[in-house]
Amino acid sequence: MQVFKFGGASVDSAKGVQNVCQIIAQHLDKPLVVVVSAMGKTTNALEDLLAANREKRDTMPIYNQIRGYHFQIVNELFPDKSHRIYSELESVFFTMMNSYKLSEEDYDYQYDQMVGLGEVLSSKILSYYLQYCEIPNKWVDVKTCIATDSTFREGKVNWSKSEIQIREVTQNVFSEYNCLVTQGFIGGDDKGRMVTLGREGSDYSAAIFAYCLNVENLTIWKDVPGFLNADPRYFKDTQKLDEITYSEAIELAYYGATIIHPKSIKPLQNRRIPLIVKSFKNPDAEGSIILNETSEKTKIPCYICKPKQVLISIYPKDFSFIAEQNMSYIFFVFAENNMKINLIQNSAVSFTVCADENKQHFGDLIEALSNNFKVRYNDNLELLTIRHYSENDIKNVIGDRTVLLEQRNRTTAQLVLSK
Ligand code: ASP
Ligand code: MG
Repeated sequence: MQVFKFGGASVDSAKGVQNVCQIIAQHLDKPLVVVVSAMGKTTNALEDLLAANREKRDTMPIYNQIRGYHFQIVNELFPDKSHRIYSELESVFFTMMNSYKLSEEDYDYQYDQMVGLGEVLSSKILSYYLQYCEIPNKWVDVKTCIATDSTFREGKVNWSKSEIQIREVTQNVFSEYNCLVTQGFIGGDDKGRMVTLGREGSDYSAAIFAYCLNVENLTIWKDVPGFLNADPRYFKDTQKLDEITYSEAIELAYYGATIIHPKSIKPLQNRRIPLIVKSFKNPDAEGSIILNETSEKTKIPCYICKPKQVLISIYPKDFSFIAEQNMSYIFFVFAENNMKINLIQNSAVSFTVCADENKQHFGDLIEALSNNFKVRYNDNLELLTIRHYSENDIKNVIGDRTVLLEQRNRTTAQLVLSK
């Protein structure tokens, strides 16, 4: 048994859906679970729709855009306008309209009932299109599989219940079909309500299925050829990592690599299920694989760039030392103001912190610190992390930029750079 996850970019057009169907068709020699995200940027659009409704703005333009986008894809895929997909979509859009009326006091609840519909739309379109291409498959409501608590927008998975449900549902489906199509990003609470798993949660959904079914492997189909050693938006000449370990993937994600969330890797690591990342644009190419141990001896340097950083230096006002009580107060102020710390360095008379710029809370943070300390800061900086660095890698990457802070251990170098 295998699990495939297709992200929003793979199904952002009729051509995209056709391509995904082709990929699925080539892999039906074993039972296959397909987890799909919302089409293109639908989740963002649904968030906008909800925001417009709450702010009492006109929702119609956004609603019509989401509706028009999906119907245009469906028109291209199903020329016969009496096909069932049309009435199925109408019924999802009807639910969407009605979710405006849900209790506005509970924002997170309302969010999940509306924003989760993006995946319902995409999975229905994909399932019907597979059927249209004579690929028998069964559409499954993921709420009957992934069990969560009722923490809306950040559902906590009930693993034992999910495992029982997933096994039962898949067993039933696979007794008749070879392919099951379901939604990423959502689970169901014990009242049968949609609970989303957090933004970009579809990878996690796929990992839950893979874990609960203890499958051979999980393949995530992306628009990149695999795990790259750097983000091609920031670096040229990126290299593909053919094999990496779960721990290395978790480390890279921790430093800010957007490959895959550590939350998705952990369940796979626990059952040693290999994770394959491949390109839906070039499905026959090798891709990357994450597993427990790799055979690769040499480590390719990996570059992770976090923009929008602020470096804050804190000094006692009275020339005393930065003592433990001061530290605990400083950490408290950062936590209070929701500022995520990425790196710290202290000396006898100062304490320096590199954090994500959080425009919303930054003023309050500086104000709170300034009550007790002298504070200086630089903003609009970049935090660059290099795993498996060499002196040359560091030199090349700095170029003519100024290094404001540098920290190294045996495997990792971190630099705070100004432009
Ligand atoms: N559609 C959801 C999002 O964009 C989940 C996902 O794509 O992983 O956040
Ligand atoms: Mg998405």
